[in-house]
Amino acid sequence: MGIADGIPLSRLDPHAYDIIVLEGERYPYASGYDRFAHTLAQRFPQQADQLGEYVRRVRSIAQASPLYDLRLVGSPSFMEAPCHRISIDHFVAGITSNPALQAVLLGNMPLYDGVHGLTPAYIHAIISNSYMQSAFRVVGGSDTIARALCRSIERQGGCLRTGTEVVELLCDDQRMTAVRLDSGELLMGRRFISTMHPWALMGRIGSPLLRRAYRERIAAVPNSLSNFTLYLRFKPNSVPYLNSNLFYYHDRDAWASAYSPERFGRRFMFMHQCHQPNPSFAQSAVLIAPMAFAEVARWAHGRGEAGYRELKQQRAELLIDRLNCIFPGISAKIEGYHTSTPLTYERYTSTAQGATYGLMRDAGAPERSYISHRTKIPNLLLAGQSITAHGALGVTMGAVVVCADILGPQLLEQIERWR
Ligand SMILES: Cc1cc2nc3c(=O)[nH]c(=O)nc-3n(C[C@H](O)[C@H](O)[C@H](O)COP(=O)(O)OP(=O)(O)OC[C@H]3O[C@@H](n4cnc5c(N)ncnc54)[C@H](O)[C@@H]3O)c2cc1C
Repeated sequence: MGIADGIPLSRLDPHAYDIIVLEGERYPYASGYDRFAHTLAQRFPQQADQLGEYVRRVRSIAQASPLYDLRLVGSPSFMEAPCHRISIDHFVAGITSNPALQAVLLGNMPLYDGVHGLTPAYIHAIISNSYMQSAFRVVGGSDTIARALCRSIERQGGCLRTGTEVVELLCDDQRMTAVRLDSGELLMGRRFISTMHPWALMGRIGSPLLRRAYRERIAAVPNSLSNFTLYLRFKPNSVPYLNSNLFYYHDRDAWASAYSPERFGRRFMFMHQCHQPNPSFAQSAVLIAPMAFAEVARWAHGRGEAGYRELKQQRAELLIDRLNCIFPGISAKIEGYHTSTPLTYERYTSTAQGATYGLMRDAGAPERSYISHRTKIPNLLLAGQSITAHGALGVTMGAVVVCADILGPQLLEQIERWR
């Protein structure tokens, strides 16, 4: 697509691209399969074999995953693999009985909102495997990717519409014919791809081509948690650049930090932003803490209310205090901050309940939470995090699956050759 040159990357510290903080103790994830295991083995010398086994299994699950491997396009048979039916807690417990090491290995859970007994092992494996191979930040922020994609689409004759909402998807008795925008304008087409949250999509299609059972199944899949995000702006040259992502757990047991409103701020991820190649100081950072939509639902139609502003301020101050315990003195170096809540995400992206990672996958019943990229409307395809897998990696994989369905398997062959 010719976008790679427009996306400058900055490599995260290969000795500690992620740092897991458990009750104040720091554990680094190092890049490279062997180095990952070897580095953690220095902290868990009795568990060196188990760490080697963990890396081997993560790698083999990821490599065997038809989606990661981009094979079996359109086939739900990948769910038959055992890693789809084992939850992450079982997976890790099958490798080590050491609770501290279990918590460290599960430390990057906020990248996919891992839930005890629910999240399938393959989600953990594909994401961890990808980071173990190499981990980068986008210089200038990840919206650089969106801007590069826009330029590429326009270069190839495409046209982009922003700031307007698709309010209805129109079908005849066989296929989809058009979308209606909030301005009333109709956009006709031969093929349509939706990346909307599936609940938002169902609410915009009246066609009986989508059967009631399908709609009810989708409505019954629970969402992942949403989050409270704190965007920090630092005083110039005051905060040394942290070239690692930090996953903070107030407790030693990662599961004990599972979310409830009373436990807000006991688990979060914290990342400096990379504004230029190899910066000495950070200009800004983002802190993402789990938060439930229900906590802000009452302000959905009156967001300016004082209570909402107070809650945001309270939460921001709590997080800054916690950050100050990890990096003493950091609060004095903050020039200003902005916040967003589950309502922000729901409002700006139509993601139901502001779910950070869309609909949850369920290891106990993978077929119930599986939504194919194909629908009963033959020219409507689905992509996005609720379809394939969560996060940037899952969304990219899903986009390739959809494109291969339209363009044919030669697309996958081309990607293989390029790789
Ligand atoms: C604060 C935060 C930090 C994150 N950090 C990471 C990270 O570090 N790594 C990672 O891998 N993932 C991260 N994620 C998750 C990642 O952002 C998502 O998994 C990914 O963006 C989902 O992509 P998507 O295309 O499914 O949905 P979206 O990114 O939400 O895109 C859907 C688009 O459709 C538009 N849309 C929806 N409805 C309509 C409509 N009716 N009409 C017109 N347009 C519509 C929305 O405005 C949006 O632009 C983070 C998420 C959050 C909230």
